Amino acid sequence: MKYQAPRGTHDVLPDEFVVRRDLVATAERLAELAGYQPIEPPTFEDADLFVRSVGAGTDIVEKEMYVFEDRGGDRLALRPEGTASVCRAYLQHGFANRPQPAKFHYVLPIFRYERPQAGRYRQHTQFGAEAIGVRDPALDAEVIELGWRITEEVGLRDLRLGINSIGDAEDRAGYVPVLREHFAPHLEALCADCRQRYQRAPMRLLDCKQESCRPYQSGAPLIRDHLRPESRAHYEGVQERLQALAIPFEEWSTLVRGLDYYTHTVFEIAPANGGSQATIVAGGRYDGLIELLGGRPTPGIGFGMGLERLALNLQAQGQAPEPAAPLPALVIPVGAEAVTRASQLAADLRRAGVGATLAFGDRSLKAQLRHADHTGARFALIVGERELRAGVAEVRDLRRGEQRSVALDAVVEELRRAAPYTESK
Ligand code: ATP
Ligand code: MG
Repeated sequence: MKYQAPRGTHDVLPDEFVVRRDLVATAERLAELAGYQPIEPPTFEDADLFVRSVGAGTDIVEKEMYVFEDRGGDRLALRPEGTASVCRAYLQHGFANRPQPAKFHYVLPIFRYERPQAGRYRQHTQFGAEAIGVRDPALDAEVIELGWRITEEVGLRDLRLGINSIGDAEDRAGYVPVLREHFAPHLEALCADCRQRYQRAPMRLLDCKQESCRPYQSGAPLIRDHLRPESRAHYEGVQERLQALAIPFEEWSTLVRGLDYYTHTVFEIAPANGGSQATIVAGGRYDGLIELLGGRPTPGIGFGMGLERLALNLQAQGQAPEPAAPLPALVIPVGAEAVTRASQLAADLRRAGVGATLAFGDRSLKAQLRHADHTGARFALIVGERELRAGVAEVRDLRRGEQRSVALDAVVEELRRAAPYTESK
């Protein structure tokens, strides 16, 4: 075949689509129960928005972002994450002047030029939530609770929730020199990425997955031991609230994130037996971000959840996805004269909320019935010239193998009772 979906992307086919739609419905319902409102920023933004917020030297901006110049000469980027756009919208539309926190949820395609593998794509979809305008440990706990509850409600088991505090710029001013001191004697032995991290984002030295770097991570000083009292109090407050909500969390003292805007609380939810592509939910606080984008100093916190990884993990746990529901009724006209009445019947059924379509084409009744079977339809409604004269349709229940004549003007009511569209889902 000449054309294929671009590498790292895939077509969401009907069976996968309905699974995803159910996941999204659950996530949205839980988010709205907690007062988060839907938002959808555009798919592309001024590239600079992401450069400033995610950070010029991060993998996402430096290696993964899809940047292009449009015909007017503007430098745009396909969104590589959701938070920056939502914060931009918060500022642009004056949400700062409304009750705080402003709370949003979204479902957005995300674009990153990554090395494609299972659970890692160049286009993926995130469900996300953001709460902007309040710095209160109880809000951190609410956001984390939402992420946790969604994974629970969709039926994922054996998950772990890890939290950490990465402090803010002031905390790090005290911590980073000590951290560098620990790694300095080993610079030669670290991987090339880590040698760069040493300069640009030293906290990420703790997070390198290379086996050869691991020995130098153990015994490294931890930010947790270098937080100022206010920062420590916030972190302890988050833990107390999570305990009160009976959310089981672990302290992952080397958890850092790959985006520059994070401060204080960071968290991830991953399967207990997971590998590196396993993180399903990831998020944290971003108290400096709104100010960085030109607003007044405004705190915020949020998370993103990869829907593909959510679905993969459900599957891995043996939760067989329900296939897309077949249409309940197939109306089969027999002979040219029956087509008009049959198509009216199909339309009447749809008006009454019963899924129905015509059996098209010039095929024998036997072939049409075989086709009906293949589609998974529950009922075949046969309308032939003989039936027309008698004012009836043959209603064949394909599941039970029964068939009987039903007056044409009673068919809709009969099927509405037997096969409302939602029944077969
Ligand atoms: P990773 O460490 O796996 O690269 P990340 O830190 O880059 O993840 P975030 O930017 O925090 O991920 O994105 C939030 C969530 O989105 C992740 O936890 C994951 O579920 C999902 N995700 C991120 N990148 C991809 C991708 N390339 N393909 C599929 N899902 C992804
Ligand atoms: Mg990544």
